[in-house]
Amino acid sequence: MIRVLLSGPEVDANYAALLGAALSERGIAADLSSDHAPGTVDYIVLDPGGTLVDFRPYRKAKAVLSLWAGVEVFLGNTTLTQPLARMVDPAMTRGMTEYVIAHVMRHHVGMDRHIHGLKGRWQQDVPKLAPERAVTILGMGELGQAAARALTALGFPVTGWGRTAKEIDGLARNFSGPETLDDALTGAEIVVILLPRTPETENLINAARLARLAPGAALINAARGPIIVDTDLLNALDSGHLGHATLDVFRVEPLPKDHPFWHHPKVTVTPHVAAATRPTTAAQAVADNIARAEAGLPLLNTVDRSRGY
Ligand code: NAP
Repeated sequence: MIRVLLSGPEVDANYAALLGAALSERGIAADLSSDHAPGTVDYIVLDPGGTLVDFRPYRKAKAVLSLWAGVEVFLGNTTLTQPLARMVDPAMTRGMTEYVIAHVMRHHVGMDRHIHGLKGRWQQDVPKLAPERAVTILGMGELGQAAARALTALGFPVTGWGRTAKEIDGLARNFSGPETLDDALTGAEIVVILLPRTPETENLINAARLARLAPGAALINAARGPIIVDTDLLNALDSGHLGHATLDVFRVEPLPKDHPFWHHPKVTVTPHVAAATRPTTAAQAVADNIARAEAGLPLLNTVDRSRGY
């Protein structure tokens, strides 16, 4: 019988029954609780939004399994010496792909013109077709590659940009490394950010980078707020260079009531809902990883602390 600590508000509320059943299906008997004595715990399933920050008492824990895909909250935590796995879940990936497609298509076909109304003017602006619309995705990991596949299937020429070079089928252009970022952004009409937050990606999208985009371009940030310099983004929108920003993530969340993003006519705020962790599928992903560890196999989706994601 393994002991699994369920820690954090999201885990407490949703995971005991789902994870117990998922482990049982894999032949693992587990005692799941939110108040096991720390020294007895084998695995920690963690909602990083909770209060557990000191991992030292969990000296026997074989892994910390995060329910979040982004793991920057852990990176400065020197008490966390156990292996750390982040959430990769097909439902989360699907959710992000749906969000990206919805917001790309909104900008691509110019839906806002008709949603806000033409006010009696019969003005026919015929949008470009997908093959004529340059889309750049920053971050070609689980989420970026899935979004690229979906956009490519719709006919968009997709430019991908990541940290290390890798073969990715179907891309129009495939860049890697900081020295290629300007090329990846130059002339892009829609940019989708799906990078992790690390020291290298913080403030990456600044005035000079935004100036590279095509006039009237749309920016979609579904990754992390600090990747964009907020004031540079507002200036680029106000100057008319940028057409629109769709933002799901912010430097401070919830986004403060007096933040200019809330009421800016060229900003759409979505409250960090692009790709939620859904308990039914996330419990399966966590159970898979615990089963691997119990079988002596390496954990999936471990975080490399030296690179920060
Ligand atoms: P992932 O699989 O780890 O992929 C990250 C990608 O970013 C990789 O392609 C990586 O390059 C690239 N990258 C990292 N640092 C870079 C740098 N300095 N320069 C260029 N490229 C860099 O992560 P994921 O699962 O796709 O998730 C991405 C992020 O989305 C998460 O970290 C999280 O912050 C965010 N997220 C948001 C939501 C939401 O609801 N808004 C939900 C889930 C996740 P390599 O391929 O070379 O490693």
